[in-house]
Amino acid sequence: MVLTCAYLDCSNRLKTKRLRSLARTHSGVVTFHVFQTSEPARLKLWFIALRLDISTPINVLKLLRVCSDNFFYPDDFTYPREDHVRLKPSAVPMGFPHPTEVCEQA
Ligand SMILES: [Zn+2]
Repeated sequence: MVLTCAYLDCSNRLKTKRLRSLARTHSGVVTFHVFQTSEPARLKLWFIALRLDISTPINVLKLLRVCSDNFFYPDDFTYPREDHVRLKPSAVPMGFPHPTEVCEQA
């Protein structure tokens, strides 16, 4: 199975069996990240940034990934281990104002 990035016009793709070996912190390596289906507020921002239909079922979302090229590097990432890349809880794909800016205006 080949994963394709869900971001509009992004053509990065990755074979699932290589996910772990590619999840490194080194710049230039693309990592793929799942949708935050457990956080409705953040998920909504993802829908807007990715221009997805907000009624897309959860089981479909769980098959989608967004690659690291579509986030703000390095601000949106944490590195719990050398070979592991995670998105920060505040991370939203580019194309939508950063959540911290939205909060400051409120
Ligand atoms: Zn991408």
